[in-house]
Amino acid sequence: MKFSTLVSFFERLQATASQIEMTEILAELFMEASEDDIDTVCYFVLGDIAPGYAEVDLGLGEKTVISALALASGRDEEEVSRWVRDEGTLSALAADLEIPWKEEFRDYIAVDNGLRVEDVHDGLMQIATASGSGSMKKKKTILAAMLAAADEKERSYITRLATGTMRLGAGDRTLLDGMSHAVSGSKELRPVLEHAYYTCSDIGHVAKILKQSGLSGVKRIRVSLNRPIRPMLTQRVGKLEEIMEKISSARIAAEEKYDGERIEAHKDGDEVRLFSRRLSDITDQFPDVVEGVRSGIAAQTAILDGEVVAYDAGEGIFQPFQQLMHRRRKYHVEKYVAEVPVRYVVFDLLYLEGDSRMSAPYPERRALLKEILTPSEFLTLSGMKVCTSVEEIHDAFSSNLKRGLEGVICKSCASDSVYEPGNRSWQWIKWKKEYETELTDTLDLVIIGAAAGKGKRSGGFGSVLCAAYNEEEDVFQTVCGVGTGFSDEELEALPEKLEATRREKKPSRCQVRKRSEPDFWFSPEYVIEVLGSEITQSPAHTCNWNEEEKRGFALRFPRFIRWRPEKSPEQATSAEEIAQMYGQQGSG
Ligand code: ATP
Repeated sequence: MKFSTLVSFFERLQATASQIEMTEILAELFMEASEDDIDTVCYFVLGDIAPGYAEVDLGLGEKTVISALALASGRDEEEVSRWVRDEGTLSALAADLEIPWKEEFRDYIAVDNGLRVEDVHDGLMQIATASGSGSMKKKKTILAAMLAAADEKERSYITRLATGTMRLGAGDRTLLDGMSHAVSGSKELRPVLEHAYYTCSDIGHVAKILKQSGLSGVKRIRVSLNRPIRPMLTQRVGKLEEIMEKISSARIAAEEKYDGERIEAHKDGDEVRLFSRRLSDITDQFPDVVEGVRSGIAAQTAILDGEVVAYDAGEGIFQPFQQLMHRRRKYHVEKYVAEVPVRYVVFDLLYLEGDSRMSAPYPERRALLKEILTPSEFLTLSGMKVCTSVEEIHDAFSSNLKRGLEGVICKSCASDSVYEPGNRSWQWIKWKKEYETELTDTLDLVIIGAAAGKGKRSGGFGSVLCAAYNEEEDVFQTVCGVGTGFSDEELEALPEKLEATRREKKPSRCQVRKRSEPDFWFSPEYVIEVLGSEITQSPAHTCNWNEEEKRGFALRFPRFIRWRPEKSPEQATSAEEIAQMYGQQGSG
């Protein structure tokens, strides 16, 4: 596919704010792209070069891009920097500059018939893999060569891809809808495509298989080692009794609920890789967990699901989440391994000796896990009690709280209790101590705007505008503005922290009522945990917007609790969950 053809699709996507139109354009793009190009096309639409877990990093800062633009245009860097300030963005300048072709660029890019999608991908991958001495010069020259081979519009999009600023307004769910439309004329295939995507975490791979072998091929997509599986999520209820009704299983496993970070471990012989909830490779952060899995799991190959928790071995107690945050670092890891010891508490087994175990019932997965796991200083099996009544669940819950745990996760033991990747399933229900003491559970919301501070807060922000994620529409919808709960230092640091996500206008995929528009906009990136008193209906917020009644859901008296760096914006509390919580308030 010619890159110019893809660019014309990018322009159409960018020109619309309608999700439906976007889906139709993406369906057309899916049909037009070849089997060979479709994976790259998908990554590019999302502003990526490769699937997220592959951690492809171009390593291009603004300075290097300016230097590449200077090299390509024959101008000096000072001049280019000044123009960037005038034009506002690197991509706008890249489109405007005159960039002549030079024969010496031929060593980096072959372009006799114009750029193809494949050429742009190869160029970007070469930039990403350039390493060692002279790598910056190489990165800069490859980018200059690509820009010289491109026309005006192509240059703008190459620069956006290179700087991670694509922002076409299509999320991965809209892309899946586009594929579904292309094949069936409607969104009906989204669940099948989503299941495959959540199993392999590579949207390009799903698209390629769909083109090559149709839906039956997609249904055959299997788990593979070192490709993270999306973690299964838990539902919540308003009353403890409802757990028995919702989990229609005579036996319910009440597992201990730990307050740490979700980690999926892949063991391949002696190699162990750890993936976070955002599917990032965080192996280097936890050498102790790696060792625990390597020596404590008696299997050649396995994929485990669990929670890593800070642990005080002297006292024999788990520590709060805040402690674990000290382990979130790239440097001086060893020092913090000693200072903040952790334990990996494993609660599920998804893959064993070459086979997926996700379709085996929970008791079977658990029995296998028990067989292969030898507890050690860094590794243990989650505590669990099988219950047959709500009283027994409550006992387990109370006993967990006494031991400093957060509550229980109740899990179905029925014959259909399969592991559902990425799904918030009624087979797993959480019950936490807050549910008994507070009016509502906390929400994890995405910051999309801020109001300028007044009085004591002038010069900074007074509050941040927060949104929930609407999974169905693949958009962010507002729920509240949060101004309390931040410490003075946190408040002061907010503008700088959010600066990289600052936007001139409302980011696409954000739905905001005119009356709630903030002074500053931010693209959805940062997730915070917020506690409120009650969910109400309000004309000021768009969460689950009801056009007839002109009302959405809002959170009253919201309070900042903590940052949730381990959650992606799409992992924020969903609009559907908020609607559910609103209903539970009524019944509770
Ligand atoms: P959510 O995960 O539902 O989006 P959250 O990140 O705020 O919300 P919680 O509401 O505290 O998390 O509860 C769910 C999380 O609890 C799981 O995602 C998992 O990380 C963690 N967890 C702790 N213990 C267990 C367990 N025994 N089984 C399953 N999950 C557990």
